[in-house]
Amino acid sequence: MDETVRQHKYVLSEDQMPTTWYNIMADLPSPPPPPLHPGRMDPVGPEDLAPLFPMELILQEVSTDRYIDIPGGVLDVYRQWRPSPLFRAHRLEQALGTPARIYYKYEGVSPAGSHKPNTSVPQAYYNKKEGTKKLTTETGAGQWGTALSFACALYGLDCEVWQVGASYDAKPYRRLMIEAFGAKVHRSPSDLTQVGRQLAEDPRNWSGSLGIAISEAVEVAAMDPNTRYALGSVLNHVLLHQTIIGQEALLQLEMAGDTPTLIVGCTGGGSNFAGLSFPFIREKINGRMSPRILAAEPASCPSLTRGVYAYDFGDTAGMTPLMKMHTLGHNFIPDPIHAGGLRYHGMAPMISHLYELGMMDAEAVPQTECFAAAIQFARTEGIVPAPEPTHAIALAIREALKAKETGEETVILTALCGHGHFDLAAYDQYLRGEMVDEEFTDARLAEALSSIPELAV
Ligand SMILES: *Cc1c(COP(=O)(O)O)cnc(C)c1O
Repeated sequence: MDETVRQHKYVLSEDQMPTTWYNIMADLPSPPPPPLHPGRMDPVGPEDLAPLFPMELILQEVSTDRYIDIPGGVLDVYRQWRPSPLFRAHRLEQALGTPARIYYKYEGVSPAGSHKPNTSVPQAYYNKKEGTKKLTTETGAGQWGTALSFACALYGLDCEVWQVGASYDAKPYRRLMIEAFGAKVHRSPSDLTQVGRQLAEDPRNWSGSLGIAISEAVEVAAMDPNTRYALGSVLNHVLLHQTIIGQEALLQLEMAGDTPTLIVGCTGGGSNFAGLSFPFIREKINGRMSPRILAAEPASCPSLTRGVYAYDFGDTAGMTPLMKMHTLGHNFIPDPIHAGGLRYHGMAPMISHLYELGMMDAEAVPQTECFAAAIQFARTEGIVPAPEPTHAIALAIREALKAKETGEETVILTALCGHGHFDLAAYDQYLRGEMVDEEFTDARLAEALSSIPELAV
């Protein structure tokens, strides 16, 4: 047994917690293409978004200020679990026999068990301030629904959640946690909305998708002036709120006296990845370090590595603005992999833009490799990861094993954006040897891409 004393955990004090969010827009060589109105096909203005979002968030969406103050009321709530810990994965490194140093920033310490409250809290806060009575939303794995219902409970807002059918059936405990926080949960597609009823006519839609659930939540919010809609990923203001993760990690790596050569995070809509990496990209732009920035996506829903960069809808019914993004097509229904939070057809426009600029890379990972990595991680580091970040862990392990071959100095920073305590059925399936990787064929890809409006004209 190795008895050397090693530091595993880097902890910041409360007064070291950042008090601003970092807006990467201020540091990019060019802005991303604007979202377009689905009817007029010209850029959307604040008034187009006002029925869905409070003005403060609309302004953040288009802001070019480099730093945006976090309101005191939000900082107060953040302090319940922030600053979150950064760990050095000594025991995983040892098991891999790698010279690479691996760090992970752990967001599973939040009340919802993921990074999502970093944005659900400010979103509920601004809505409350501007008189909203109720928020509607979608949820995939149930993480975002949990985070938003928690935030709504804090601010006395009603909350209604459309949960993707496959996940509603497979993850009853997530639904129960959302209900414990006081929100109403519906299986999507539901018969409560016009889009839900219409889409449910096609049996292929019965398992649901994030795109369908978004359409339902948007429809309900658009019809009631006291109700607004909250999105858990993709939009600029969501990515912005998550940058507290990377700003803390920068300080923590400084404590560790280390500089990353690789930053890897999983990407569903891109918010935890952006939250960790954007402050480091700022450092890279300023010439202070040069880590490779790598997105890990599921092989079953590979929007960056196999999608096209085109204007597409954010939802299945085509109610949202058209966004220029890497997309598999807005009516694509991914295989029901366990990482429900990564089953989104598109990617954040800001991340898509960075990818087009060559400022980051992406790789797709099959589910079984992710769970093999997750088991190794759990048995060395003691944390059972959510299925989503196992994609990042799998790539971190691939790179750590490469470092063993090449001997190149490798310092990996990854986002462990949530725990998997509600995902144990997925672990059960893996451990019984029953998990399979479905191939995502070119024929299926071509069919999925055919729904993209920009490609049809
Ligand atoms: C929602 C979620 C994701 C996917 O969303 P991103 O916006 O890409 O971060 C990943 N991991 C966890 C734990 C989530 O809850």
